[in-house]
Amino acid sequence: MDIDQTKIPQATAKRLPLYYRFLESLQASGKHRVSSSELSEAVKVDSATIRRDFSYFGALGKKGYGYNVNYLLSFFRKTLDQDEVTKVTLVGVGNLGTALLNYNFSKSNNTRIEMAFDVAEDKVGQKIGSVPIYHLNEFAERVANEVEVAILTVPAHVAQPIADNIVESGIKAILNFTPARLSVPDDVRVHHIDLSIELQSLIYFLRHYPL
Ligand code: ATP
Repeated sequence: MDIDQTKIPQATAKRLPLYYRFLESLQASGKHRVSSSELSEAVKVDSATIRRDFSYFGALGKKGYGYNVNYLLSFFRKTLDQDEVTKVTLVGVGNLGTALLNYNFSKSNNTRIEMAFDVAEDKVGQKIGSVPIYHLNEFAERVANEVEVAILTVPAHVAQPIADNIVESGIKAILNFTPARLSVPDDVRVHHIDLSIELQSLIYFLRHYPL
């Protein structure tokens, strides 16, 4: 089926990797179908939302049968470009940067941190995992036409100027782990993950909205 991917709402698109990962594990264990309630339990998204999400790409599910795992996976693979490796860079090889380099999204075969940048003499020239660390002043020439996404794990006070470098190099997607709010042109997408805020917000909900 041909699906106009621009019609898929962003909130739905954001949940696709979650669905994808779970469905892959189902396929690996030899399961061919899954109900929306089973999926809901596994990915912690309510089943009405799952049904709505899936309806955008014509997977309506059959009563008493559920969804066909292989069909869903082949759709997701296309949508998420699972067959294409997206090259990623990371700037700031501190504690968090080092952890991400070691992790290097090993559960996903379509995203890989290819190179990292820092300014600290003791880090430049080293490797973490198999990822080489270069000096930031080599950024533009190294990432040119190679890298599509940058992960930012530098101290907050240098985040904006480094984001400017990243944008100048032509990269259109930044995963910002710093607490800084970044200003970027309209055609650059920034996703912000502030781990301390996430943790504080979880603790707030734990205290004030017990389940
Ligand atoms: P560490 O214990 O290694 O300092 P950290 O996560 O506490 O880790 P931060 O001060 O947040 O350290 O710095 C993160 C990383 O960003 C460090 O490796 C630091 O060398 C690097 N860094 C600092 N300034 C810049 C910069 N202008 N450009 C690139 N990297 C930078």
